[in-house]
Amino acid sequence: MRLTTKIHERDSAQLTYVYPVVSRRAGGVSVGINLNPNNACNWRCAYCQVEGLVLGAGPAIDQELLEQEVREFLGALLNGDWMEHHVPEGSRRVKDVAFSGNGEPTTSPDFAASMDRVAQVLDELDPDRNLQTILISNGSQAHKTEVQAGLARLAQRGGEVWFKFDGGTSVERTQLNGVEIPDQKVIDNLVQCSQLVRTRLQTMRVAVDGEGPDEAADQSWTHLVRSAQAAGARVHDVLLYGLERKVYQPEAERLSKLPAEELLARAEAIRAELDLPVQVHP
Ligand code: SF4
Repeated sequence: MRLTTKIHERDSAQLTYVYPVVSRRAGGVSVGINLNPNNACNWRCAYCQVEGLVLGAGPAIDQELLEQEVREFLGALLNGDWMEHHVPEGSRRVKDVAFSGNGEPTTSPDFAASMDRVAQVLDELDPDRNLQTILISNGSQAHKTEVQAGLARLAQRGGEVWFKFDGGTSVERTQLNGVEIPDQKVIDNLVQCSQLVRTRLQTMRVAVDGEGPDEAADQSWTHLVRSAQAAGARVHDVLLYGLERKVYQPEAERLSKLPAEELLARAEAIRAELDLPVQVHP
């Protein structure tokens, strides 16, 4: 199979935990690590792109197999001819290694061990840290000591967390993320995560029933970020996303993409309000 920027199937390399993505966000090939091959997540986002998503936690991870897959696949990308056969010309660069699976990676009981194992392989194969290491997370487990050990190991590797931060109120989070989380919990999670490792806010901006977020929603979002910062959160920047790929949840028909100009205008407002850099992926 030749990968394009639209193909993100987790089994495209026929491995259990490792999959390649030719990514517009990465500007090359991103090596994905899926610690949720059981499609389980503790959240249920309306825009989730996981087919067959179930409520639950990630499973135990076969550490030997994980190491073998990362070692062999990354080796083939960096030193072999896999790119030539599978990736369009112009995208033949490995940009990053991203823990981004079919569910929330930090819910696996082996998250920290897996982070350590992968970091060890990366330290060996990429000693100069040319590859960014990313954890894409909803941040909900950041209070757990074991998860914090994994975050600290990620920081040691020079990596970063993309912390899901969609709604500024519990009502909006319930609508978008399918979970009821009080503001204080979001703040605590963000503080704990960002004090351990560089943390970027990842925010989805989408229309529900034809309506994008209104002014009150935007104000709540900004207020929540400010409150987290006042409590000690160190926010590196904001990644503002529009709806891109196919959504597999029942709410899919209620969601629609907002115009790029809308996202760009919101990015400008966030920059002015919070003095943070904002990247837009409409
Ligand atoms: S946190 Fe991620 S994997 Fe979980 S439901 Fe939301 S989008 Fe899907």
